Amino acid sequence: MEFKNAYLQGVYDKVCQRNAGEKEFLQAVKEVLESLEPVVEKRPDIVEAGVIDRIVEPERQIIFRVPWVDDNGKVQVNRGFRVQFNSAIGPYKGGLRLHPSVCASVIKFLGFEQIFKNSLTGLPIGGGKGGSDFDPKGKSDGEVMRFCQSFMTELSKHIGADTDVPAGDIGTGAREIGYMYGQYKRLRNEFTGVLTGKGLSYGGSLVRTEATGYGLCYYTAEMLKCMKNDSFEGKTVVISGSGNVAIYATQKATQLGGKVVALSDSNGYIHDPNGINLDVVKQIKEVERGRIKEYVNRVEGATYTEGCNGIWTIPCDIALPCATQNELDGASADILIKNGVIAVAEGANMPSTPEAIEKFQAAGVLFGPAKAANAGGVATSALEMSQNSERLSWTFEEVDAKLQNIMTNIFHNSYNASKEYGMEGNLVAGANIAGFLKVADAMMWQGISY
Ligand code: NDP
Repeated sequence: MEFKNAYLQGVYDKVCQRNAGEKEFLQAVKEVLESLEPVVEKRPDIVEAGVIDRIVEPERQIIFRVPWVDDNGKVQVNRGFRVQFNSAIGPYKGGLRLHPSVCASVIKFLGFEQIFKNSLTGLPIGGGKGGSDFDPKGKSDGEVMRFCQSFMTELSKHIGADTDVPAGDIGTGAREIGYMYGQYKRLRNEFTGVLTGKGLSYGGSLVRTEATGYGLCYYTAEMLKCMKNDSFEGKTVVISGSGNVAIYATQKATQLGGKVVALSDSNGYIHDPNGINLDVVKQIKEVERGRIKEYVNRVEGATYTEGCNGIWTIPCDIALPCATQNELDGASADILIKNGVIAVAEGANMPSTPEAIEKFQAAGVLFGPAKAANAGGVATSALEMSQNSERLSWTFEEVDAKLQNIMTNIFHNSYNASKEYGMEGNLVAGANIAGFLKVADAMMWQGISY
């Protein structure tokens, strides 16, 4: 028995049976169901309405062929996915991941987590996720464009501004969103807010590029202030990854007084004890689409080490994993704790293994889970949807202020839920419960056929 509660055990057993071998999806479901033990005790009406049985099954899953022609004239075939997980509180919303590791399990874990994350933002957005096993790395712009056009040719049949609004994720940045949006418009002959993360000249929102990284730091700052009467000021920060989330987390952590000393990619990590020079990183990653090791050729005093896990051996006060799932395991957690880390907050989705989370919580390290801590990206995407509907553009300051407010509320709503359900300070349980309750309520109002 993995659960104290027999009903939850039954739900989980069925999920395991139906989704055998999908380890990331099962990991994500297990974590949420564990958090719901006290909810099940307190709310028999939720159990009776079968909400938990229903919420673990996607409303719709679409898997499709994506054929395209490479620069040598050879036909390539990738697999596309869109999982429309839950629309109880709004249109499906969630990113598109382009990475060779993409499979049903990865997209389903991301889509499942997205339900609760989106609910936590307080905005009317349901949960979904999609992507493909296409790898944009090393491809020419022409190849990326032809892939994106083919991908959207099928996806366009299933999405819409009031139905399902995809966004970026790993491997899907401004370039890819642009190509996909262009194709959608051509196929449907309509200019709508069907994707977010768009360029500023065609309906994008200010702050969307920065939102996940900034939001992560706003959340972390609130967690430090309320739970430890502390701040980023004077703290050493280690951030994994060097993509969209990592870059803007570095920028905001630095603005808030922290010193970011390390970044990584899937090959290795850089350590710059003087503090990362973000202009250099942005030039390498955003302009040249190069590798992070290039940094040491341009900045004196910095070192590069092969292998990305080693980044967690660098002593720090605050660790922000911003690369990918399960990148921070129990052994890395032990080292971080030994080196005196005081707070860990997740910029990536599910970057800490269950073992690592357990260790952080047992050691009294503040731990901000992805669902709450990285919700700034999707929250700002929802703000982009509002601006598209209004056909207006808000200023940077307006959007940034809304983002800050949303992240602060997410922290407090999660904290309060953890307290109300007898686990004060457990922000994993708090985020899961707070996110879940709103969706559960909406599902109950809308009846069982839903
Ligand atoms: P990017 O593609 O911009 O960057 C991803 C970074 O993570 C790169 O540095 C990449 O290195 C590294 N990475 C990817 N896969 C692996 C791997 N298997 N092992 C080690 N490093 C890896 O993506 P984002 O910054 O947008 O996304 C990062 C994380 O944040 C993801 O978990 C994503 O789901 C999450 N997230 C993103 C949001 C957004 O708004 N962009 C919103 C909420 C969550 P390399 O170049 O070597 O692949």
